[in-house]
Amino acid sequence: MSEMNAQTGERKASSLGQEIVGQINALATISENPGNLTRIFLTPEHRAAANLIMSWMAEAGMSTHLDAIGNVCGRYEGKRPRLPCLMLGSHYDTVRDAGKWDGPLGLITAISCVADLNRRGRRLPFAIEVVGFADEEGVRFASTLLGSRAIAGTFNESVLATKDGSGKTMRQALIEFGLDPDHIGAAARVRGELLAYIELHIEQGPVLEAHNLPVGVVTAIAGAKRLAVRLTGMAGHAGTVPMALRRDALTGAAECISRIEELCRSDDAGLVGTVGYIHATPGATNVIPGQAHFTMDIRAPTDNHRKRAVSEIVRQIEAIAKRRKLELHLDVTHENRTVPCAPWLKQQVAAAVAAEGHGVFELPSGAGHDGMAMIDIADVAMIFVRCRGGISHHPDEHVDLADADASARVLLRLIENFRPREAG
Ligand SMILES: [Zn+2]
Repeated sequence: MSEMNAQTGERKASSLGQEIVGQINALATISENPGNLTRIFLTPEHRAAANLIMSWMAEAGMSTHLDAIGNVCGRYEGKRPRLPCLMLGSHYDTVRDAGKWDGPLGLITAISCVADLNRRGRRLPFAIEVVGFADEEGVRFASTLLGSRAIAGTFNESVLATKDGSGKTMRQALIEFGLDPDHIGAAARVRGELLAYIELHIEQGPVLEAHNLPVGVVTAIAGAKRLAVRLTGMAGHAGTVPMALRRDALTGAAECISRIEELCRSDDAGLVGTVGYIHATPGATNVIPGQAHFTMDIRAPTDNHRKRAVSEIVRQIEAIAKRRKLELHLDVTHENRTVPCAPWLKQQVAAAVAAEGHGVFELPSGAGHDGMAMIDIADVAMIFVRCRGGISHHPDEHVDLADADASARVLLRLIENFRPREAG
């Protein structure tokens, strides 16, 4: 049985998967420094990667252009010119010292599917557009989803004034790259031009691997809320203040953090909570901490779920602070809505997964993706691909060739059987 699967894997691998992995490897050589992968927005590497990707798009039978924010765009006409499109895509910027699959897998797989249609001379009753988003990670200007926001028409012009680490503004960087910052609006598309937006992406988590599945159907891109918490008690001598009389801010924070973990662990519907930063003052071995700051990041697959969870967490933190006689200060530092994948699209993804012989498994995306911006002009769906050990944003990020092939076959089947949403 396993031998047979291995053989099937081998046979399939010789087609789409091989081409995809070859291109992933080629793209990964375009990096700020040799030895690790770093490809940042509006750099010479961005330019080189865009040229390479556009050459693949052209070979796949697409017309190509670089849009006003530096996204690479390819279009494969349908049976007639100027039909609305099914848009596919992902990003081709990276974090620092990145893995090579996060972003490029979805982009390159989409191009490979179009190349396959083109080889067969197959035209569909709609156009296919493939977009490589120029900046999703937000490494350079600490502002994410720049490429997809430009396409969705929600690019906030005020970010043009933000500066990178060297003090250069985004406006200046765009001009030096050869783009016109006053014409970013030209990249924007409108709802009627798109039938849907579908993105294939590595899972970046361990769930598909644990279920022994190559692909998964994404239910929603989880919204997130981040809060900064400050607890103030009373600093004091570590030797002289009896335990019962202390107002220790750090032990208060510790109790809050344990409670956040407990609440999230007891939830079986996808709630996750993280305290990633803590700082106590005055911060000396022999002094009772008078103040503690910590952050929390809470995510859930629906907005209601997240809101309910955050208010319960806040209620419990308030109770802990009160009992310990600590002053509490809470600040919301970030909140973004949940982006649900459209049920009609999800059904078509599930049908393609099943038809390719895989179990249909649904999971939410805890990480953010370009669909968070694209939802403003199109219904969104995502396909997740298993990655080894759930490791991402790290050079050890890895997708097996057989999984790259299996997911490409799912996407190709999905495209060929795609039916636009019925009006009404
Ligand atoms: Zn990504």
